[in-house]
Amino acid sequence: MRESAPAEQALILDSVARFLDRDVRPHVRQLEHDDIYPGEMVEKMKALGLFGATIPAEYGGLGLGARTYAKIVEQVSTVWMSLSGIFNSHLIMAAAVQRFGTPAQKASFLPRFASGELRGGLALTEPDCGTDLQAVRTTARRDGDGYVVNGTKTWISNGIQGRCFALLVKTDPKAEPRHRGMSLFLAEKGPGFTVSRKLEKLGYKGIDSAELVFSDFRIPADRLIGGEEGHGLQHALGGLELGRINVAARGVGVAQAALDEAVRYSQVRKTFGKPISQHQAIQLKLGEMATQVQAARLLVDHAASAYDLGERCDMEAGMAKLFATEAAVNVSLESMRIHGGYGYSKEFTVERLYRDAPLLVIGEGTNEMQRIIIARQLIARNPV
Ligand SMILES: Cc1cc2nc3c(=O)[nH]c(=O)nc-3n(C[C@H](O)[C@H](O)[C@H](O)COP(=O)(O)OP(=O)(O)OC[C@H]3O[C@@H](n4cnc5c(N)ncnc54)[C@H](O)[C@@H]3O)c2cc1C
Repeated sequence: MRESAPAEQALILDSVARFLDRDVRPHVRQLEHDDIYPGEMVEKMKALGLFGATIPAEYGGLGLGARTYAKIVEQVSTVWMSLSGIFNSHLIMAAAVQRFGTPAQKASFLPRFASGELRGGLALTEPDCGTDLQAVRTTARRDGDGYVVNGTKTWISNGIQGRCFALLVKTDPKAEPRHRGMSLFLAEKGPGFTVSRKLEKLGYKGIDSAELVFSDFRIPADRLIGGEEGHGLQHALGGLELGRINVAARGVGVAQAALDEAVRYSQVRKTFGKPISQHQAIQLKLGEMATQVQAARLLVDHAASAYDLGERCDMEAGMAKLFATEAAVNVSLESMRIHGGYGYSKEFTVERLYRDAPLLVIGEGTNEMQRIIIARQLIARNPV
């Protein structure tokens, strides 16, 4: 991915900022509390080109680099993290096609992904496995000129509103090592592919999270990404560096929003005759919070720069993901404390940030796994 030119970056960030101020900020609280899918915002996001942000221009996308993309994700997440989820996992699905798809798959799917006409996400997790993806049980059995899929996927973002998913299955359930029997398909909704239920969540509302059921779902063979069985895990995990940068950028956005709320509130709330921002106990918190936010932002930018240069950045993306998402959890909790009782009220923004942040330490590889990935890379890069 190339780095975007400064003028191009400023232009897109400015358009996104205007969209957020005019069309999102005034409506977030209501939509979020009522858990309503933001259909009108999605139409505007299509017009802005966000569904094609990282898809190359030759397929109708904006072709932005990871640094600019991360800044967009941060910006969107300072206002409403759920909105970023609507285009983030969609773009990770697109990235699998970009990187590993056949020329015919690229030509057929990428333009429709880029325009937002065909939207979706990633269908990897199952009721019995998330971290250990090699344990997936959904199968695709070869049958004539296609495959027959059976199984259940859960926690799938955009599962109800989306129509196309990168679906991880076993084409050879007996293969050893297990990943050799795994394949990734582009599954468009049709007979045998149903949404069994919408999942209720602590936060990350508005965006739909669903359980998907495949029951003798027939899929043409030309939907197998890359056209060859046995590479599914590699194809699904191939987008992980960008995925982690993306989740880390969400963390920066949520943490920044929580910090902004705290800085504002602490100057208007008075106790013992002065604004609480003048009490040293609150200053200690603000100082720590601001430092965490800025450090997180720099780690994201560092990882994104390496990604744009085509350098290996699994450790860098893991560090950014780990630090920025823990910062989102810490800073939103500290901001809530600074708000006192009002931090617990549904009338203040900080309660949403506090409910949204914990997802970030789980999704796109849990933070327990990030620590392990970082350590393994550290050792691999420094052999004795
Ligand atoms: C709101 C939401 C949206 C999501 N969206 C999607 C989506 O769009 N597509 C999709 O495919 N999935 C999605 N997920 C699923 C998510 O990716 C998984 O929840 C995540 O990968 C963790 O898997 P798990 O929940 O099965 O936890 P488990 O894998 O069961 O892990 C449980 C705990 O054990 C720890 N653990 C597991 N293995 C190890 C190990 N080897 N060493 C140390 N600790 C370990 C984990 O860190 C965790 O703390 C979403 C989840 C949520 C909550």
